[in-house]
Amino acid sequence: MYLCPMEFNGKLIVFSGPSGSGKTSIVKALLNDYPHLFGFSISATTRAKREGEVDGRDYYFISPEEFKKKIEQGEFIEWEEVYENMFYGTLKSEIHRLHQQNKHVLFDIDVEGGLNIKKIYGDKVLTIFVMPPSIEDLKNRLQKRKTESEESLQKRINKAQQEIEKSKYFDVIIVNDDLNAAIEKTKTVVMQFLNNDKSSN
Ligand code: 5GP
Repeated sequence: MYLCPMEFNGKLIVFSGPSGSGKTSIVKALLNDYPHLFGFSISATTRAKREGEVDGRDYYFISPEEFKKKIEQGEFIEWEEVYENMFYGTLKSEIHRLHQQNKHVLFDIDVEGGLNIKKIYGDKVLTIFVMPPSIEDLKNRLQKRKTESEESLQKRINKAQQEIEKSKYFDVIIVNDDLNAAIEKTKTVVMQFLNNDKSSN
């Protein structure tokens, strides 16, 4: 079931950054514009489904008990308690699923998870940190999104600061002050990464 790093011959592109930074929109644009090239690693999570989200498309929404069982059975490549009592994890079976489809894997995961994927898969990974122009801007975006309660919004803002401090460990930082421009910049760096690798093989 699990492909060790040596067996996986695709590439892994990790997107991390504060909640509300726009990383999900950037990932969606890549998937939409290059459906044959990229597939999305659907994470498992214990958080509640938001309006508009679909189980098995955005996340595998599972109970804390199921999540714990998967940890015990070694089904995750990485997992984190991203917010208190909210668990998120990358399933080994996702890499396998996308490898079978001959696709490069896109991840939308937190900073710790992203850096862990880099540790495991090394040069096969490009880590991209999506940076909001400012914390104030981030707060406005999260408020506009209307997906979070006041408490959850505060948790996300608090975590953003810690995440931004770790952006220096990422291969690329994309400042998202204009979504379309950020998408174009991202496409350029991702294509460069894929092409560079071809020439070094
Ligand atoms: P949200 O609740 O906004 O969908 O996600 C909260 C945070 O969890 C985001 O930073 C998201 O990227 C991260 N996340 C989603 N899936 C995973 C995962 O599988 N592993 C880790 N470590 N973080 C994840």
